[in-house]
Amino acid sequence: MGSTILDSILELLAPLGCAACDAPSEGALFCNTCEATTQMHDGPLGLYEYGGAVADAIKRLKYEGRTDLGARLGAELAEAALRLGRRVDVVVPVPMHPLRRKERGYNQSALLAHPVAKRLGVPLDLSRLRRVRPAPPQAELSQFERRRNLEGAFEARPDRARPRVLLVDDVCTTGTTLSVAEDALYAAGAERVERLVFAVAT
Ligand SMILES: [Zn+2]
Repeated sequence: MGSTILDSILELLAPLGCAACDAPSEGALFCNTCEATTQMHDGPLGLYEYGGAVADAIKRLKYEGRTDLGARLGAELAEAALRLGRRVDVVVPVPMHPLRRKERGYNQSALLAHPVAKRLGVPLDLSRLRRVRPAPPQAELSQFERRRNLEGAFEARPDRARPRVLLVDDVCTTGTTLSVAEDALYAAGAERVERLVFAVAT
């Protein structure tokens, strides 16, 4: 995803360190110090609670160009999807608006969703759902205003052959984005939409 062959080779040669601080972690996602700051999410929506090293790892993936973390965080998310027994026909990441994606060079949710689809043995569909309006700043808005702001932000493509969708995102904060994305999928004929995120902010 936007990396050169040299980048890929360097990634292969680099020892896998902690996803939050790069300290040696013996292949684990987090080193012991960072691991102590993480908390698993209790429920089917996501893998971790948002905060501590989990928040750091997501920030590095999203804002510091650490696309290598997508596969590693995604691999853990994939195990969670399998444990949760998700029975779906297709995995769809929450899309970014094309302009935002162009700025960042990648969609972190797609990077996370890729190993999930692979592990569940179903296709990853990057075109089922499109973001037709960019995300407005949401931080200061009420839940109602967030929802109204996002209304019509997504458009979905019908796919009768794959009615059960697993929608994947990096973080769930209020759930508004996921629920507006779900509405678009249902409007296009999806029978069931399930959610899975790497971290749940509560
Ligand atoms: Zn660490």
